[in-house]
Amino acid sequence: MRAFQMTGVGSGGVVDLPDPEPGRGEFLLRPIVSGVCSTDVHIYLEGVSEPALPIVLGHESVAEVIAVGPGSRWNAYGASVPRVGDRVVVEPLFPCRTCTSCVRGLPNVCLESRHMGITWNGCFADLFTAPAWRTTKLPDDLVAEEAIFIEPLACALHFVRLSGLTAGQHLLVLGGGPAGLLTVLVGTLAGLAVALSEPQPARRELGEAMGAQIVASPEQLENALAESGWITGPDAIIEVTGVSSAVAQALDIAPPASTVVLTGIGLEARLVANTIDVVVRELTIRGAAASRDQFARSLELIAGDPEAISPLVTHRLPWTQADSAMRTVQADRTIGKVLLDHTNG
Ligand SMILES: [Zn+2]
Ligand SMILES: [Zn+2]
Repeated sequence: MRAFQMTGVGSGGVVDLPDPEPGRGEFLLRPIVSGVCSTDVHIYLEGVSEPALPIVLGHESVAEVIAVGPGSRWNAYGASVPRVGDRVVVEPLFPCRTCTSCVRGLPNVCLESRHMGITWNGCFADLFTAPAWRTTKLPDDLVAEEAIFIEPLACALHFVRLSGLTAGQHLLVLGGGPAGLLTVLVGTLAGLAVALSEPQPARRELGEAMGAQIVASPEQLENALAESGWITGPDAIIEVTGVSSAVAQALDIAPPASTVVLTGIGLEARLVANTIDVVVRELTIRGAAASRDQFARSLELIAGDPEAISPLVTHRLPWTQADSAMRTVQADRTIGKVLLDHTNG
């Protein structure tokens, strides 16, 4: 099979590899659509997350089940369980299922987990494997280009859940890339009043389409909030950039007793705060990693209103152009979601 293999920071290409064999309890999958995530870009072009080189990149996948590995007796279960020929979406983090985090029901913070495109060969390829229990069968009428958002939307659902907010409260999202925009959408659907801070006008427009009441550049943000008519400041701030300046701004403007959720991944990002500021305002600072238990809800939301997310797709490329797709995501801060097509190329 062909696969986009990373061999070093910023170096990689499409190579021929032996077809992968599904292990015990695993599926062999043929990708239909892959999503390019900022995480892929940080891994490939910056070496974030210390990938196990050489590694096939890609972790956002809608794929068809081609074969079932031995020993799973998987097809004995109900109609909602995927089987050969079904289309599935893959939850790309594969927890160990035995460590303390896993036993506590926190598989997304399993430190022994494998992750597609980091420590497990990913989906920028003709074929890949994944544990069957990490796949979710798609309804027949949900198109692959919409279903590809189930994974990133699940992450946004997790970020908003960890903010602790309930309907009627105020959320500020810092960063209007695809993950930040999906966070705006989830906040809006949860009944929150949402503001978005984002330097690029094109992305601020997408933020409005996702339901943000207030959109502003980072420089104009404090004025925009002051003039907004919000009686209180944000009850929570979700930072989706992985950039030090955004983290610093979040801690700087967080009102007393608010929560700051950090989700961005950046090698250079540092949490620099005067602890007195955190203490006297009783801030809660917490991280949020990927998602847990959110795939069913995410699928339901997307199947219920697939058009809500379609404005986010700005680029479609054959998957064999993964290199230029990732370089575009890194260089062009105005774009939305980049999808890779496996049915052509
Ligand atoms: Zn991702
Ligand atoms: Zn574990």
